[in-house]
Amino acid sequence: MKMEKILPLLLLLCLFCGCASVATNTITQVSTIDALLAGSYDGVMSCGELLKYGDFGIGTFDRLEGEMIILDDRVFQVKSDGLVYSPSLSILTPFASVGYFVPDKRFDLPPGADLHGAEDAIDTAVPNKNIFLALKIHGTFRYMKTRSVPLQDKPYPALTEVTKNQPVFEISDVSGTIVGFRCPDYVKGINVPGYHFHFISDDLKKGGHVLDFTLKEGTVEADLCGRYLLILPDDGKGLEGLDLSRDRSAELQKVER
Ligand SMILES: [Zn+2]
Repeated sequence: MKMEKILPLLLLLCLFCGCASVATNTITQVSTIDALLAGSYDGVMSCGELLKYGDFGIGTFDRLEGEMIILDDRVFQVKSDGLVYSPSLSILTPFASVGYFVPDKRFDLPPGADLHGAEDAIDTAVPNKNIFLALKIHGTFRYMKTRSVPLQDKPYPALTEVTKNQPVFEISDVSGTIVGFRCPDYVKGINVPGYHFHFISDDLKKGGHVLDFTLKEGTVEADLCGRYLLILPDDGKGLEGLDLSRDRSAELQKVER
């Protein structure tokens, strides 16, 4: 077959397969953190669609059904029982951040470091906090403390109400991967300024939103990202009626830590 005939076919194939149209070094985000804090838990993009924007990331699911981890192009769901599930790609997400992970830096963390110690070590290794960092930390952990969030019914309570009763999981002697981001302070209201990490064990059985840990040993891979793509629900109804004008930093502090 001649090239002129193959090219349109390839293009069609690409459209059907949903080939990546997003450059590396791009973080793509669905909805905003303040919308989630305000109780906007209805999913707006399918996990299948989300994978067109990255092979790596974190988020949550329709009706806030657990914590999302995307690692090596696979979507995992840590439900409120602390266990890891493989959700259908048709399940929607109300909030997620993803990207194609291509590490620019690799370094070891100090053995014995806790969450704050690890954050300090990353700040020292990558001091410029004004661009986005996608982070993958693989390690063995003496201790890992995570949480998840349970499925919510309408009328949705605010996220600060949901996390008051969040199930917390303490895992000892586990190896696994922390997936997350360090966002610049200026994303306040849109994403989480500073660090936001989710964890999944190597055996793909346990995980969640990271509250703290004690590392045995671990290695950080950091991907500096200078592009930021924000996708809002554009069906005319998404985010309607939410008060997104006020400062929700104190609420965010409560739900993240
Ligand atoms: Zn989280």
